Amino acid sequence: MSEKVTEKVHLLIIGSGPAGYTAAIYAARANMKPVLYQGIQPGGQLTITTEVENYPGYPDGIQGPEMMVNFEKQAVRMGADIRYGMASKVDFSTQPYKVEIDEENWIEADAVIISTGASAKWLGIESEQRLNGFGVSACAVCDGFFFRGKEVAIVGAGDTAAEEALYLSKLCTHVHMIIRRDSMRASRVMQDRVINTPNITIYWNSETEEILGEHKVEGVRIKNVTDNSTKEVAIGGFFVAIGHKPNSDIFKDYINMDDTGYINTIPGTSKTNLEGVFAAGDEQDKNYRQAVTAAGSGCMAALDAERYLSAKGVI
Ligand code: NDP
Repeated sequence: MSEKVTEKVHLLIIGSGPAGYTAAIYAARANMKPVLYQGIQPGGQLTITTEVENYPGYPDGIQGPEMMVNFEKQAVRMGADIRYGMASKVDFSTQPYKVEIDEENWIEADAVIISTGASAKWLGIESEQRLNGFGVSACAVCDGFFFRGKEVAIVGAGDTAAEEALYLSKLCTHVHMIIRRDSMRASRVMQDRVINTPNITIYWNSETEEILGEHKVEGVRIKNVTDNSTKEVAIGGFFVAIGHKPNSDIFKDYINMDDTGYINTIPGTSKTNLEGVFAAGDEQDKNYRQAVTAAGSGCMAALDAERYLSAKGVI
């Protein structure tokens, strides 16, 4: 690997969601002079949501993009060096660790915090993209509240879809659950709960042909793939729960992960299999995936990094 190293830093943070910015705030206050690269979507997944009502400290709620601007401002005020740029490759074979930015420059770091997050998978149909944020959402816990008292649809059949369908069934008058096969992938107990909930209707062997509505979601056209029949249902919200992909591809040669790409951390810590490399946020958390849990894990990573760097005598 020909690596033209242009800079050496104590702590490099990769990613700019709640985990990365929180790590930057803590690390800057601890005088670790963190450098954070924001990635292609500065602010992360919260920048594609609308109102956030469940992050403590905002009694009137706050728009997701605005909240992430606040996170960034706070990190900058504490002295973090926040940069636009994307980690394109890493070489963790020897210390100091090396990270390539924008396929150009290599930076060396004594410690690295990975906070690259995860991306929701989408169906890939035109109406889903057009109405994203206008009734189409990939997070029932974030956005379900806006559809209370209305009918909604959800697509997916894993544990996430089952959990979110049950969550929505408590807020919404009816949940239409669209499942592409004749069975669910979710655990048996979750399947049973979904099937036994009176205000959830399951459409087996079914696909979303189109989400209906000009400027906001007004309905969905569901196609049964066994007989090609279609049915239109009036809804106010459409939830996609077909899985997330952790943004961890560039680390796979060095960092232990599960078979779906979620980074393994030592339970109760942010430590990975490599000393001095820590992980915080959604790329290491398939269960909770909330802004507040990501922020909490960012704090853990900064504290773990601080202990590591001071034990090495770097700071
Ligand atoms: P999964 O990958 O388990 O499930 C994804 C679901 O979406 C599958 O049912 C799949 O269908 C369906 N799907 C995928 N692509 C499409 C598509 N294009 N159109 C329609 N349907 C599609 O993801 P989850 O997010 O549900 O779960 C991820 C992991 O996290 C799992 O291991 C799960 O057990 C775990 N989890 C655990 C929880 C808990 O224990 N409380 C809560 C939530 C998640 P098909 O089955 O046909 O492939």
